[in-house]
Amino acid sequence: MVSTLEILRHTFGYDAFRAPQEEVIQTLMAAKDALVLMPTGGGKSLCYQIPAIARAGVGVVISPLIALMEDQVNALRQAGVAAAALNSSASPAEARATEEALLQGTIDLLYIAPERLLQERTLALLQRSTVNLFAIDEAHCVSQWGHDFRPEYLQLRVLHERFPQVPRIALTATADSKTRQEIIERLALQKAAVFIRSFDRPNIRYHIHSGSQGARNALLRFIRDRHAGEAGIVYCLSRKRVEEVAEWLQGEGLGALPYHAGLSADERRRNQQRFQRDEGVIMVATIAFGMGIDKPNVRFVAHLNLPKSIEAYYQETGRAGRDGLPAEAWMHYGLQDVVQLRQMIQQSEADLPRKQMEGHKLDAMLALCETTDCRRQTLLGYFSEHLALPCGNCDNCLQPPATWDATVAAQKALSAIHRTGQRFGVQYLVDVLLAREDPRIQQWDHHQLTVYGIGKELSANAWRALFRHLLLRGLVEVDAEGHGGLRLSPSSRPLLRGEEKLTLRQHESTTPKRRDKRPE
Ligand code: ADP
Ligand code: ZN
Repeated sequence: MVSTLEILRHTFGYDAFRAPQEEVIQTLMAAKDALVLMPTGGGKSLCYQIPAIARAGVGVVISPLIALMEDQVNALRQAGVAAAALNSSASPAEARATEEALLQGTIDLLYIAPERLLQERTLALLQRSTVNLFAIDEAHCVSQWGHDFRPEYLQLRVLHERFPQVPRIALTATADSKTRQEIIERLALQKAAVFIRSFDRPNIRYHIHSGSQGARNALLRFIRDRHAGEAGIVYCLSRKRVEEVAEWLQGEGLGALPYHAGLSADERRRNQQRFQRDEGVIMVATIAFGMGIDKPNVRFVAHLNLPKSIEAYYQETGRAGRDGLPAEAWMHYGLQDVVQLRQMIQQSEADLPRKQMEGHKLDAMLALCETTDCRRQTLLGYFSEHLALPCGNCDNCLQPPATWDATVAAQKALSAIHRTGQRFGVQYLVDVLLAREDPRIQQWDHHQLTVYGIGKELSANAWRALFRHLLLRGLVEVDAEGHGGLRLSPSSRPLLRGEEKLTLRQHESTTPKRRDKRPE
């Protein structure tokens, strides 16, 4: 039998395994299950491709994306591996030929979409063939709380029931501990050996800024000053904005192309090919672009909007610098993004627990944006990974942000919550702090409180931002009934007693307003 190392060298042309490829491959060679958590670009594919080739029979790869599948099949065929795909884009004749080859045992790797796999006909076909492993790619798609949830993935546990002898490997680049647990439970992978590689991408430098204006110009300056002539991706939230930004960059003389789901399949393919092949193309895209992009020298990924979760941010920025050379992740977002994303969550069809989960994910993303600590430590911390020292390669490390001591303001805000009985929402509390005339305040006699009007040094916007921070940091909580009433959480006590300080990033909306001296 050909050794796995020989396959690595002769078929794929690489000298050595990367951690933990070799151990994963050995696990599958021994017909045991594996769960592999590795960042994008880490080299997950070889983990199942090599044992599928080395063992007798066919390795079946379940992948949610047809475009991705075809790239993989083509690359494998070029390397001389007998690979095929079964999906809706194959003609009936092609599908028949593939099925025939399966039964003959002349295919090493079969790529298949989950809905096709789950058809009884396909399962029966596989039972008549010799399957040597099942690889479940993008396994986080089983997570109902994830942004890539695919209902068919839930049914994949049928593989365990129908093919109990066949080892399974689940792979993902997205795995906080909760998703990890979900994958294990939903795919019945309790016995799987788990392989985790650090999510850190030390060659990516992170920059995040906010502000309501000037995003496009800041982007242009960033590209011209730091990435002239280099390939990059610019993510925008809407198709319309993609078109606008692509056109505008073109007008500025840059080689930008649009990519979003509203373009014809043909145009998308053309633009993607140009990005992949040509030098220095900037792809302006919605998140429809990216899964399966394998361009090693993307030098920057820019976001002109806030991603809706840290997972999404990590995955999108992870497309930069796959060659290991310095690359940058740059983001500019506005408060408007937060409002828009919150509305999207509110107005979606999802049930309440799901909406709450999405709300928490957005909050975590915002916490990453607003932190004055090392971005990498915060980011990795979210994935339950601990980085001992600040990284020295993010905006906060390189240029510690201007901050202001918000301790006193926070004490006032917390007192306002406490004195008004811990049941009012942000707007009401701000009205109390600013001593605004409001019949409700009179009705509750809150104009008699000591906190009434003690917050005039900050604008209403600054107070709202401060309350948002208190929420983000878990110092206050929203009532469970969902009326938006705020309560103090136990962790606010040290701050209230003055035993702890609160330091916040200084930006437009949170900076204390200048008080002009006026004659009384
Ligand atoms: P992932 O699926 O984890 O995002 P891929 O499997 O697409 O990553 O691999 C990313 C890149 O790394 C590919 O270009 C792949 O050929 C390359 N690669 C994988 N394993 C090795 C290795 N052992 N040595 C060198 N390059 C590798
Ligand atoms: Zn840092």
